[in-house]
Amino acid sequence: MADVTYYCPRCETLATVERDAYLADKSVTPYPLEGWSYDPPGALPDADAAGIRFVCGESEGVEWSADGCGEPFYLNFVRHDDGREVESEPESEFVELNVGPSEPRGPQGPGGPTP
Ligand SMILES: [Zn+2]
Repeated sequence: MADVTYYCPRCETLATVERDAYLADKSVTPYPLEGWSYDPPGALPDADAAGIRFVCGESEGVEWSADGCGEPFYLNFVRHDDGREVESEPESEFVELNVGPSEPRGPQGPGGPTP
């Protein structure tokens, strides 16, 4: 077990938790990742744990450097599926990934279909 520290992404209150180091941290986000499941910081994360849900300044099992903002934030572990790292993005940004300039496709493109 080792002390690990995280900053709240909202107010930068420092959270100190004690846990095993074998789970690699991926990111800390103000929103849960789609499809991720979270344990409270007091629970010992097992191999299936995807992350920890903190409530800033309130979660038990955490040493808080300040009163905090009372909002939740999420520590995401690196997950692997068939040997590859699972990629995911916060739900709030998920839609934006599918928006933006894209190549015209199909017969609707300029000049019509190519013979
Ligand atoms: Zn906070």
